[in-house]
Amino acid sequence: MKEFVYTAQPGRVVFGTGTLLRVPEEVDRLGRSRVLLLAGPRVAAAAELLAAALGSRLVVRFAGAAMHTPVEVTEQALEVLREHSADCVVALGGGSTTGLAKALAVRTDVPQVIVPTTYAGSEMTPLLGETEHGRKMTRSSPAALPEVVVYDVELTLDLPRDLSVTSGLNALAHAVEALYAPEPNPVTDAMALEAVSAIARALPAIAADPSDVDARTRLLRAAWLAGTCLGAVGMGLHHKLCHTLGGSFGLPHAPTHAVVLPHAIAYNAPAVPEVLTRVATALGAEDAAAGVFDLLATTGGPVSLRELGLPEAELARAAELATATPYPNPRPVTPAGIEALLADAWHGRRPGGGVSRRPVPDLSWLTDQVVASFDRTPGDRERRLLTDLVRQLHGFAIRHDLTEAEWARAIEFLTRTGQISSDIRQEFILLSDTLGLSSVVDLLTNSRTPDTTPSAVLGPFYVDNPPEARHGDDIAQGLDGTPLWVDVQVTDQAGQPIPAAVVDVWQSDKDGHYDLQLPDLDGPVLRARLRTGDDGRLTFWSIVPPAYPIPDDGPVGRLLAAVGRHPYRAPHVHFMISAPGFRRLVTQLFVAGGDYLDSDTVFGVKEGLIVDFEPGTGAPPGGRPLDRPWRRLTYTFHLARI
Ligand code: NAD
Repeated sequence: MKEFVYTAQPGRVVFGTGTLLRVPEEVDRLGRSRVLLLAGPRVAAAAELLAAALGSRLVVRFAGAAMHTPVEVTEQALEVLREHSADCVVALGGGSTTGLAKALAVRTDVPQVIVPTTYAGSEMTPLLGETEHGRKMTRSSPAALPEVVVYDVELTLDLPRDLSVTSGLNALAHAVEALYAPEPNPVTDAMALEAVSAIARALPAIAADPSDVDARTRLLRAAWLAGTCLGAVGMGLHHKLCHTLGGSFGLPHAPTHAVVLPHAIAYNAPAVPEVLTRVATALGAEDAAAGVFDLLATTGGPVSLRELGLPEAELARAAELATATPYPNPRPVTPAGIEALLADAWHGRRPGGGVSRRPVPDLSWLTDQVVASFDRTPGDRERRLLTDLVRQLHGFAIRHDLTEAEWARAIEFLTRTGQISSDIRQEFILLSDTLGLSSVVDLLTNSRTPDTTPSAVLGPFYVDNPPEARHGDDIAQGLDGTPLWVDVQVTDQAGQPIPAAVVDVWQSDKDGHYDLQLPDLDGPVLRARLRTGDDGRLTFWSIVPPAYPIPDDGPVGRLLAAVGRHPYRAPHVHFMISAPGFRRLVTQLFVAGGDYLDSDTVFGVKEGLIVDFEPGTGAPPGGRPLDRPWRRLTYTFHLARI
């Protein structure tokens, strides 16, 4: 288990539509009565509404907040705060306005009510970045944390399309970097993945229609989650680069985040492939870096630092500044690596090449419709299985942007799988076996008791009601091969013999063929039903089985060939053992030292089932006259009681 520490930040969140008008009661809740309202000209209409609602609580307004919180502006606002003896700051605006409120709070401890109008997420963090003499310094202080955050979806409806996209990408950056933070924890992981998924689906909808209230709601909620992640865990390369580009080169905050994010992800990809696979899945893209780039390109965002006005000649200095002090990042940060990253970002190159594709549409309505169509399924279990199957199938198609041609190929494959199946050939079982699904179901069903014999897949060659045989019979009926004396016992978990257990055995001949595959053979051979004696034992003669290929002349064989897999099964004998009061055991015993034990094509081999088929010594059992080497298989099966 990985240890973790999660510190929840204090603070109250009010989320909804029209919640702006609840700010006065929040001020009252804090026991304050003299408000300094921070609000810039771009949110003037909302500021007027708020001012009217605050009434006499409002003592002064300040409209000069600027990006990256310049210390000179903070000093001016501080003077206003003091001059009017304000005892509460209400900030209405984006991250810049929030930043000013936080800067005032760390200097005076004045409580803050923040009403965010972008997706920057600053309102959820104890972080404060300030610029002085052209350098941006960040500090973390509990005093910077707002007491109350009021999210009002209505206020975001006017946020211009371009700013919505870049600010949404800013939130996405918090979520992505939280997932590979040096001190991850399951709480931020869950919030971050939810945020990534929501942002990827809401942004295209907002780009198409900025007044889409539903998409705006989802994006604002995602921004809250992403901001919470930013406040809970440390960020890496991406935030450091944006910090440098914003603080030292004056680039705009959200657009810089938007442009840099795909390239920072691509840089870190070799170090955290699994994390970025989860990001890609949440995005609904095949690759995280390209997926983020496409999201940006197809929603109309800027894709290059060139567009943001950074001179190409500054790239080397930017790389130098961004690598001057060490900081945690999954992949070591080198000046050359960062310069290459910045060059890609400057030119707006798509990570991995290729051209951006249209964003994957949100098809959850369609999935929901299909799921709802199962509402009247009588059985709970059946409904849940069907529902989840549809969700997984739709999700699979959407994640991979499945084409009609690909789906037609899949249908054709399944059709051929059905057509080649018959009474004596089961291609669907082969498919399930070679995809490992039979083993998954087998392990789920049968292998949950540690002191019983492991189970193994049934395979396609079992035939019900095999011919009865007696102890000592030769089930090979004289077929060529190395004779094998099988002497096995069936017991319960404690080793008590189980008499009269019904044991079906079946196996291939010395060339790897089962009787079903040899139509010229007269009747069943190398398959039999025996019963244990009072001591739980049974014995019979057979032959040593070889490794053999599963039938590979059908669609499953072609699939294996197409992916470079061999079709061989490790050599084995099948057993199916039933006894009243015990769970039925279906298993296989594998020949120790046999071929393909570590690459069995149906993933059926388990350590406890690999057995020495020892060379036979002394007189062959049962008085069988043998003038050639023979082998002996001895094994005890332990069955689980029901
Ligand atoms: P911003 O606050 O500067 O807003 C960008 C522009 O959009 C401004 O001109 C603003 O007036 C306008 N605007 C805001 N809301 C609007 C609306 N609803 N309708 C129309 N116009 C609107 O930019 P931002 O991206 O929100 O925030 C960036 C700042 O926040 C940076 O200074 C950054 O360092 C800081 N930040 C800090 C943290 C933190 O945790 N400390 C986190 C994220 C961002």
